[in-house]
Amino acid sequence: MRLQDYERALPKGSQGTDIRGIHGVACYSANFDHNWWIKRIREMGMAWYKLIDDGSGSVFDFANKLRRNGVMPIVRIFQDAPLPNRLPQKALDTISRYIREGVTRWFEIYNEPNIPLEWRPGQWEALAGRRKRTLVEVWLAVAEEVIARGGYPAFPAMAQSGRTPLLGSIHWYEDCFRIMANEFGDRARYIFEHGGWIATHDAVLNHCYKDESGEWHFECPYDEITQRDHPGLTIFDGDNSLMGHRVPVTLLKRHFGLEVPVISTEGGVFVPHGGWTQPDSRYPGYDYHGHAERTVAMYRWLERYAVTYPWFFGMCPWLLANRLMGHAAPAWREDGWWHDERGKLPVVNAVMAMGPPLSDPEPLPPVEPPVEFDRNITLAIREDWQDPNSPIVRVVTMPMEEYLRGVVPSVMTPEGPLKALKAQAVAARSYAYYTKLHPRHAEVNANICNSAHCQTWEPALATEITDQAVGETEDMVAKYDSQVVNAFYFANCGGQTKNSEDVWREALPYCRSVPCPVGGEPEGHGVGMCREGALELARQGKSFDEILKHYYTGIDVEEIVVAPPPPPPPPPPEPHRWRMTVERRPGPRLIVGTFPRPGIQITATDPWGNGFSSVSGSKPEYGPGGFEILIFHDATYMLQFLGETFEVEVRGDRVHLTFEEVEEVLWRVVTQWMEEDKMEELLESLSREPTYQDRFHIEYQET
Ligand SMILES: [Zn+2]
Ligand SMILES: [Zn+2]
Repeated sequence: MRLQDYERALPKGSQGTDIRGIHGVACYSANFDHNWWIKRIREMGMAWYKLIDDGSGSVFDFANKLRRNGVMPIVRIFQDAPLPNRLPQKALDTISRYIREGVTRWFEIYNEPNIPLEWRPGQWEALAGRRKRTLVEVWLAVAEEVIARGGYPAFPAMAQSGRTPLLGSIHWYEDCFRIMANEFGDRARYIFEHGGWIATHDAVLNHCYKDESGEWHFECPYDEITQRDHPGLTIFDGDNSLMGHRVPVTLLKRHFGLEVPVISTEGGVFVPHGGWTQPDSRYPGYDYHGHAERTVAMYRWLERYAVTYPWFFGMCPWLLANRLMGHAAPAWREDGWWHDERGKLPVVNAVMAMGPPLSDPEPLPPVEPPVEFDRNITLAIREDWQDPNSPIVRVVTMPMEEYLRGVVPSVMTPEGPLKALKAQAVAARSYAYYTKLHPRHAEVNANICNSAHCQTWEPALATEITDQAVGETEDMVAKYDSQVVNAFYFANCGGQTKNSEDVWREALPYCRSVPCPVGGEPEGHGVGMCREGALELARQGKSFDEILKHYYTGIDVEEIVVAPPPPPPPPPPEPHRWRMTVERRPGPRLIVGTFPRPGIQITATDPWGNGFSSVSGSKPEYGPGGFEILIFHDATYMLQFLGETFEVEVRGDRVHLTFEEVEEVLWRVVTQWMEEDKMEELLESLSREPTYQDRFHIEYQET
């Protein structure tokens, strides 16, 4: 399915930059004045409206009226702590009804699966080590059901939490997409090609600012403030940003070569609780008026962003209203654009004053980190390199330059001239690096194969001059628009090369039809560099980069950007010496708890690095080791004390923690019946398992 084929709340054929949306209310009923709210939603120019259905059609009528008024509903089918359950039949029937009656095709099934509360009691613990695979399995099954009914299933939004150890959204996305590609490649591809989309919860927080020229910046972490502190930082280092969706978008592209619609169904610029917020001290804080200004600027910025990245479809900030739209609990009362008592915040009038979306938004300059590569390639070896139909017999990873020494002599006459061989080396290197971004043999976890199906490779053919051609062009590739090109080449064009779209579907700007100095019988696909022509141009005295620029229109020959070697993996976590029990109670947002004794310092750190400390015994009303930590934001907090680290999620409630010391358990390795060296071997292998680390020791007994 192409991006333009997805149904949107726009007249067909219009330029789709209508990204404005809103998350309605956090409950699954619609007991309010429908017409009054629809009027407000339309006045604010909303094209999308996220709402929650309990699976029985509980908000069907309201969704239907929205659609009749030109607003596209996005329906989250709500189940309390659903995972790892699939959808009940009733919910599937409800989905069918939404589609059949022309209300919407857009559905979200699971929500923030990287949070323990989204799993049935006990399942998070029971599925340790298998949570992500379980999520992938149930999501694929449910997504197939939605697609079979004509709906669009969302890959579920994670709670943005960076790379924190247990809940970190970036780890969840990376692992889920890898599992999908490696184990369920065909099923996942089918879903993403037939209506699948990506839901995210892109939270701006205060990660935005206005520069001296008055222009707003929402591209954190690619903006000046973050890059000044952490040069080279990317969204894969931390995803608390309006750009957080780049994590799943990049992974989908990397593993499947696909682009699907992206809608942020929560997130946006949060209402400042109590009138002021500044979670990250590097960026300016804001009040209610700052919230209004930022929200308007965010929508305008995204309208331009969506022109540059047409897969970005919509943004539905959290939250339109709470009690006024029927959510009885006070949990989100501070988040609503309409407050229970204060009435509408300045954001409402500010968004209404925006009018319709920009009719001709100027694209944003692309927000792209430099693509960095390592210098290796993973090669699928076929039984016979000269037969592209022979089976793949093994997969090897080798240094890129070593690989190229086996490619150049197999695709071009090894005698030279050197200039033509160098042009060939650069083309082959570009083609190979391109497969690192778009693998051609993902089914065996390889980038490329050693036959003409991809690019032939036979190291036995290498000669001194072919090695020289590779060595003198080390790390050099052809780039178009700063990106490495898919450098096609072939044997002989017969006098004129071809446009890529005349042979395949895609029109590559650097594969244009150009004249060639060599005629004769055409051989090969005719797109890109002509081998006979390259040899002739070299004989005429052209340099290797002149040859390349003749066949690849508009390219530059540049060095590839090589990534620094990855940091060493972190040491395995120590087994906990303490046990944490979590209990949730209604009440204001707060962390309280008890330790068995007073005097233990505990710190809670939020995802933006702000730490809040307390000491056990300072709040004796909770017990002799009681403590209390004030919390201002819903987030995953990292708790640290006495060298221990735990994570706890706070979601508008009061969290009671009980900490107890785990008894030290030691097993003994009995020595009487075992040789001493065997015994030490056993001890060593046990200590490689994190679970058993430091649990065993050897006792030598006198005999
Ligand atoms: Zn191949
Ligand atoms: Zn030619």
